[in-house]
Formats: sequence, structure tokens, C-alpha cells
Amino acid sequence: MRHFTFINEEMHAEKVSLKEIARAVGTPCYVYSSATFERHFSVFKDSVKDIDALIAYSVKANSNIGILATLSKLGAGADVVSGGELQRALTAGIPANKIVFSGVGKTKDEIEAAAKAKIKIFNVESIPELYAINDIAAQMNYLAPIAFRVNPDVSAGGHEKISTGKKEDKFGIAWSKAEQAYAVAETCSNIEVVGIDVHIGSQIDHLEPFEKAILKVGSLIKKLRSSGHNIRSFDIGGGLGIPYGDKSIIPPNPANYGAMVKRLTQELNVEMIFEPGRMISGNAGILLSTVLYVKKGEDRNFLIIDAAMNDLLRPALYDAYHEIEPVRKNPENSQIKKYDIVGPICESSDTFTKSRELPIIEQGELIVMHTTGAYGASQSSQYNTRPLVPEVLVKGNKYEVVRKRPTINDILKSENIPTWLI
Ligand SMILES: *Cc1c(COP(=O)(O)O)cnc(C)c1O
Repeated sequence: MRHFTFINEEMHAEKVSLKEIARAVGTPCYVYSSATFERHFSVFKDSVKDIDALIAYSVKANSNIGILATLSKLGAGADVVSGGELQRALTAGIPANKIVFSGVGKTKDEIEAAAKAKIKIFNVESIPELYAINDIAAQMNYLAPIAFRVNPDVSAGGHEKISTGKKEDKFGIAWSKAEQAYAVAETCSNIEVVGIDVHIGSQIDHLEPFEKAILKVGSLIKKLRSSGHNIRSFDIGGGLGIPYGDKSIIPPNPANYGAMVKRLTQELNVEMIFEPGRMISGNAGILLSTVLYVKKGEDRNFLIIDAAMNDLLRPALYDAYHEIEPVRKNPENSQIKKYDIVGPICESSDTFTKSRELPIIEQGELIVMHTTGAYGASQSSQYNTRPLVPEVLVKGNKYEVVRKRPTINDILKSENIPTWLI
């Protein structure tokens, strides 16, 4: 069910008019629907209800603390990939014993912070990292719970930039070295082996890669146990794809995914950990933008909008498709035109779409880019000294700004001209 729909010919987020938000907050801005977050979380939870499971929402997909608090209330844990994300999760009220820490390059400070918080598991990606965690844990008189992230050499993911589970990728312990890694871990006095972890990619649109990875890891778990390692948890990462409206990709539904995981893991007697990101937040957000100019090129029509690639990087980075619609509802028989929709940034890649068929759109109109709740605001930057895009969270007929737009002065305040020039 979609919570961005037309009421009186005008698009709303739940019960709140987007025109009203644009007037009050300004554009561009992200608008999120609490009801969608709640629904997606409960759909996922339902799909794994027969499994001993922790759902550790992948914070990097949308890391706003207003969103994390919304999910925390529903019982979500968190998968974090930096000290900053750890602090966000804790600030939003997610209990430390539901937080797992992933990532190939954890720094000493980040490891210390996570150990101090007593998180559930460190997902360890290399032997040098294992030693670093062991050393820090020893200094803190702490037993660090770890799982190795192993690389199952399975090809998956909607785009080469978001595939992570092939042997040439930088992630995880090479499959052939996994057993050796567990043997090394047993020699570390301040490490407690508790599990195993994989994450094979993102926007995965069929179940086979997950099945392959689970079967491989399942047999590895049996081997590891027979060598005396106490594997109690199996983290299968995130990666479940979602529909973006381009029709060509129909991702598996969460119920089938859950049934598949149950079927392949029920004999293993492990706690399953899931790290869904996009599946929870993708469809819960839109990017709201104003058309600044309509420009007629030689043989193309350009809509120049006030959102740009610094606000939403996915089209430039992954050639991503987003459904685009005007906020004002057009009659069924409206005349259709083809538009290239571009932002104001001085890069040709600041293009959201080319030759998109849309009803005639005029200067000053509001448009939305759908399914931008994941990897939208969390990837935004201030390139071209464009202030970070604000975020608005809607709940029924209420809304609040959960990240405000900095002023240019806010941006300049953190910089300085060196003393030798003054
Ligand atoms: C990015 C990431 C996820 C989330 O991936 P989605 O495709 O958004 O579900 C989960 N786990 C790890 C380790 C990640 O890097």
C-alpha cells in the first residue's frame, strides 16, 4: 500500500499535503511516511516470524535518528558500519545488544566505542582487524563477541557497484581461508567466536543467490562446529531488492524470502540475523523538488529542478531509475511530453532521467521522485556548497522536520582562512 497518494487532485504524504510541506520547509526536501516504515518493518517481521531472528536494520540506507527511533519502537536492531552510525543507533534508543557492527575498515576509536557500548557482535572482515579487536578488548578487560564475514563467492546485486559477495570484491574473508580464520580466533584470549556473517550485495532481484550463499555457509557451519567452534548465529546480511517502478525488475516478495530462509536454515539451530536496509526504507520516502526552469534544447526538453545529484546520488552513481510525478494530478487524457530532468550542478552526470514521458510540466511546479527513502539523504553531500537537503517525517496528519537545512553561514562556520593569510 502506498502512502504517497492523491487527495483532491494533489499528492499527499499520508494526510499531509506536499504543497504545504514545500511552502513551510522549502524545496528540495525529503519527505518520509511513518506508516510506510511501520508497514515494511512488519511485513519483514511477519516473513521471518517462524525463525529465531534479529532484524538489524541497515542504518546506512537511511540513518536519520527520527527514522531509527521509529524503527526502534517496533523492535528493530541495527547494523552499523561506522562509529557515527553506532552513536546514531544508540541515540535513537536501539539497545546495544541488538546492534551488529559491519565494515572492512573499523578504526581503533570505533572498536573502543562499540566495546564500551557492549554491542551484540563485531562482524570481522580480516585477520588484522581480529587482532586489533583482541588488543583493544584486552586493554578494556572485555571479551569481544565476533562473527567472521565470509565471502561466499556468489554473484548477486543489481549493479556492479553494489555487488559485494564475489571473490574479487573487497569484502569478507576469502572462502578458502575461512576455517583458518576461525582457528586463529580461538587463539585470541579476548575474542569469543559466536557466529558467521555474509552480505552478498544489494537490490538483489531473485532468490537464487541468497539460496546459494545460505547453502554454502550452512555446510561451513557444520564443518566449523565439528572442529569445535561454537557457531550460534548466522547473519545473512541485507540485499533484498524492491520495485522502483521501471517494471522490468520484479523482486521476490519478503514472504517467499522468509520461507526460503526457514527451509534452508531450520536444521542448523542458529539465531538468524537479518540486515535489511532498502527493503525497509526505500519506498518510505520521496524527494520533493521545484521546477526552476523549462528549457527547450535543440531537440530535447529539459526540466531544470532545484534538487541535484548532491541530494540524490543514485541516478548518477548507479544509473538508477526513479518514478517521477508532478504533485498536481493530471487528467487521464493530458498531453504527454518527453523530458530530460536535470539538477543545477556543473556536471553532466547531474541528470535524473532522460526522455521521460510526463504530462506537460510548467515552471514553478512541484515534482516528486519516488522510492528515495533508501540511499537518498544518507548519501547526500554539500557539493557546490548546496546546503544538506532537509528531511521531514510525516505521521498521519502531523509532520516534523527531522533534519533541518543548514544555512550557508552554518557551512562556512566550520571552515577558516589560515592565520598566515590574515
Ligand atoms: C548495505 C548493507 C546492508 C543493507 O543492504 P540493503 O540492500 O539496503 O538491504 C546490509 N548489510 C551490510 C553489511 C551492508 O553493507
